[in-house]
Amino acid sequence: MAVTSSEGRPAARPRKARGEGQWALGHREPLNPNERTKKDDNPLNVRARIENIYAHRGFDSIDPQDLRGRFRWWGLYTQRKPGIDGGRTAILEPHELDDEFFMLRVRVDGGQLDLDQLRTIAGISREFARDTADITDRQNIQLHWIRVEDMPEIWRRLESVGLQTTEACGDCPRVVLGSPVAGISADEKVDATPAIDAIVERYVGDPKLSNLPRKFKSSISWLADMPYEVNDISFLGVEHPEYGPGFDLWVGGGLSTNPMLAQRLGVWVPLGEVPDVWAGVVGIFRDYGYRRLRHRARLKFLVADWGVERFREVLEKEYLGRTLLDGPAPQLPSKPIDHIGVHQQADGRFYVGAAPVVGRTSGTQLAQLADTAEAHGSGRVRLTPYQKLLVLDVAQGRVDSLVAALRGVGLEAQPSTWRRGTMACTGIEFCKLAIVETKRRGEELVARLEERLGDMDADISIHINGCPNACARTQTADIGLKGQIVMGPDGQQVEGFQVHLGGGLGMAEGQKAGFGRKLRGLKTTADELPEYVERLARRYLDGRTEGE
Ligand code: SF4
Repeated sequence: MAVTSSEGRPAARPRKARGEGQWALGHREPLNPNERTKKDDNPLNVRARIENIYAHRGFDSIDPQDLRGRFRWWGLYTQRKPGIDGGRTAILEPHELDDEFFMLRVRVDGGQLDLDQLRTIAGISREFARDTADITDRQNIQLHWIRVEDMPEIWRRLESVGLQTTEACGDCPRVVLGSPVAGISADEKVDATPAIDAIVERYVGDPKLSNLPRKFKSSISWLADMPYEVNDISFLGVEHPEYGPGFDLWVGGGLSTNPMLAQRLGVWVPLGEVPDVWAGVVGIFRDYGYRRLRHRARLKFLVADWGVERFREVLEKEYLGRTLLDGPAPQLPSKPIDHIGVHQQADGRFYVGAAPVVGRTSGTQLAQLADTAEAHGSGRVRLTPYQKLLVLDVAQGRVDSLVAALRGVGLEAQPSTWRRGTMACTGIEFCKLAIVETKRRGEELVARLEERLGDMDADISIHINGCPNACARTQTADIGLKGQIVMGPDGQQVEGFQVHLGGGLGMAEGQKAGFGRKLRGLKTTADELPEYVERLARRYLDGRTEGE
């Protein structure tokens, strides 16, 4: 007999709760193709197939599950086939978008490179990547036009100088961000580099942590000179009144289509315990993270559902076997720190922060950078999470010469507001998810704003993104641009941007920390972008209050 409601309608059958695919709750059967690929074979195993089979037999021999899935665990993504416009991104099958060349992401944990490493990347870029090299906003370097045939030699060269591409992409622990001035800053109480090194050594490439529900982004830094609020996990320096310097732990940040700010767990972690606590949080993500829907799989959704009290309790009881010490909130700076320009180090020497345009460099330029640094007595450089770079350890008397020499190779230590504040993601040139062009547009935009507005006494950040995935942090800029197809002046569909205004991170309470607002109807065509930004900037300058 049918069950009826009190109003005589058939009662809705109680819905069986659908699991979220959490391993810890017994859901071990894959619920989507990505989970299936990872279960069928640990993605780290694809390295052997690349070296022993694909590199010899060529692109066409690659198993599709390896090509579009497991290759990522070794930093390899197929590039977008040239000539496919953004309007067709969503309607084509993946194989129709695939070129036979790859993007290769070299992870630079902490953003730290010595000159041997820099020259090695430069050499690979010139020999195997058509002289491409982009500094990403996660302190990586990305190369393009890579052939699978060349990967064994590329890995040999990278690994001979201590670099790797292991887990540079994929559902695993990605590059660990670190302060670009770790170990040299006069403002730093603890250099976080040993914790970053320990995590990389112990856990990157560990099969036990290589199958996570989604990517896992980390940062560990004494200074708040990075976008710590939008990582899955961040450790930020804090002074405990009783125990001294240590780190404040934040979890659950992330951008993309459901942006969320990370939340403090309210604990104080000494430097030596950072790797264990990091591994505990990754363990929670692996075991309790949602694996049913890809778009709900990032850690931020679990943190949002559980709340920080429960998250901390599970971390302490199930993963660490001890309680963590309560800790104070860290002091946050009143404006973002990008390290551009000339600054004194704790040891009395100087570092110089310089800007390429929207992170775009080349193997040739990186080799010139290495020669320039060496000629000025420096043996190391750092990459920043704002697509910029630093040359360290320069004697005071050589700073001016270095600034001029960097300018001579296209790296500007005294950049305009526009060059300094503008970032762009990869975009349609190489990215298969892209809807619009970004890098070239960013370069044109910077040139146009410099020409029309000159330099400005203001910090204005412009983040250009080729799609909603927000790799260049759309929501955290003063002017955040999200690529999409918009209506052109003649009613035709053209490349354009949704505009987010007023975002900003890395700042003290009461300043403008938070996501930019997506304003309804605020869109521009790509062609009109320079005029649009110029109008916005002029309006802001006219209307700003003292000190703004
Ligand atoms: Fe590609 Fe979109 Fe990320 Fe840009 S934001 S790199 S277009 S996925």
